[in-house]
Amino acid sequence: MSERIDILGAGLSGLASATILAREGKEVHVHDIRADSGARFDGDFQGIENWTSEIDFFDEMRSWGLDPDEFKSNGFGIIDLIHPDDTITQPITDGYAFRVIERGTDPHCIDQGFKRMALAAGVNIHYNVKKDPNECQIIAAGPKDSSAIAFGEIFHTDHPNHVAFQLNDKLAPGAYSYLIIIDGIGLICTCLWRQQKKSGRYLNETIAWYDEHYELNRQPIKRVGGKGDFAIPNKYVHEGKIYVGEAGGLQDFMWGFGMRYAITSGVYAAKSILGKCDYETEIRKQLLPLVKTSAINRFLMNRLGDRAFKQIANHWMRNQKKTGDGLTFMKWVYQPGIFRRALWPIVKLGMLRKKTLTDGRTVHRMPFRKPLVRDVWEPSEGANAIGEQWKNTRKRGGNLSFGESDM
Ligand SMILES: Cc1cc2nc3c(=O)[nH]c(=O)nc-3n(C[C@H](O)[C@H](O)[C@H](O)COP(=O)(O)OP(=O)(O)OC[C@H]3O[C@@H](n4cnc5c(N)ncnc54)[C@H](O)[C@@H]3O)c2cc1C
Repeated sequence: MSERIDILGAGLSGLASATILAREGKEVHVHDIRADSGARFDGDFQGIENWTSEIDFFDEMRSWGLDPDEFKSNGFGIIDLIHPDDTITQPITDGYAFRVIERGTDPHCIDQGFKRMALAAGVNIHYNVKKDPNECQIIAAGPKDSSAIAFGEIFHTDHPNHVAFQLNDKLAPGAYSYLIIIDGIGLICTCLWRQQKKSGRYLNETIAWYDEHYELNRQPIKRVGGKGDFAIPNKYVHEGKIYVGEAGGLQDFMWGFGMRYAITSGVYAAKSILGKCDYETEIRKQLLPLVKTSAINRFLMNRLGDRAFKQIANHWMRNQKKTGDGLTFMKWVYQPGIFRRALWPIVKLGMLRKKTLTDGRTVHRMPFRKPLVRDVWEPSEGANAIGEQWKNTRKRGGNLSFGESDM
């Protein structure tokens, strides 16, 4: 008789595990507290990166038997890099630096693509259920706490497909904002790596900035967002349970690009149950060095403001001129080199806090940072007008799928 495997969470990591296990003949049950895969999100665009490994991620997915053609994606080899002084330059690479996918419950979203693969493999998915984690072998339930948040607006636009990435400590405290446009739908998002009382004011100011610098002809649809949980556990397998994706602390502390880690860890979990590898060993070898490097980068970024962000942007462009490839800089940023490795004990002590979770695991967690004095400023007229525009959109039924209470 085939062994039954129960998985908590029907997101990317859980469904990646489930698909591989079911294809090998296991009886797999996935339990999700929400009504559908992707319901945690609401049509947000996200980027799957191609800089933490030499292998193109879609090729890697295919090598695992996961089909990236199951969901819609748009590859980009070029972005606008917006410096803190509003200069716009363009890192560029041959091939794809990243691919934009959509998160949510529509058929073309990545979450639904993974769901289709799982169902085709024979996985049993149970939605709207509360399952005891102790009855599951794989925990794939995503983030629990908030170390940072992202808050964005989705809108109609007639601007062609485009991606812009902005380093700006005022509009996105400690982090970055971005603009993604795919086939007439745009998303402007600001990421807050320092906790703020009213996240809406950062989004309004960010939208005002993009309205001024791009011809968007923006017609707001809804506002979306979510949280990121950044914590490194002492063990990835605890009391017989394998922790994958963000539930296992496999997240990018620097910029929050967690999808690749989530899918990869889901695959390793399945292989480990199938006796093809040891999960703990594989994660420590393949993913933990990247996670630690991203935490060290985050520690450094937390000490910076716009002046240093400008230097980073300049360095990125100088590196592109020297190497002829805008992706080399991003690959270097995630390389666990000697200098960064030497900083690890300081980062652990200075940025992370030891915490025992309710499931008994000990983690070193990055708390949501407190605001700084410079985070308080008067909104511009443009931002106030955007705030009013959003109020009217809401009155007409514009949905807010994430608010202050979600933090
Ligand atoms: C606004 C935002 C923007 C982001 N942008 C990017 C990006 O551009 N690129 C990138 O790579 N990453 C991005 N991320 C991070 C990325 O979304 C996550 O790292 C990734 O989805 C983690 O996958 P996962 O499988 O761990 O969790 P998820 O894919 O979120 O799946 C977790 C599942 O568990 C379910 N669940 C939760 N609690 C329970 C429970 N108690 N019982 C049962 N089920 C439960 C949830 O409903 C969900 O279906 C972003 C995150 C946010 C919030």
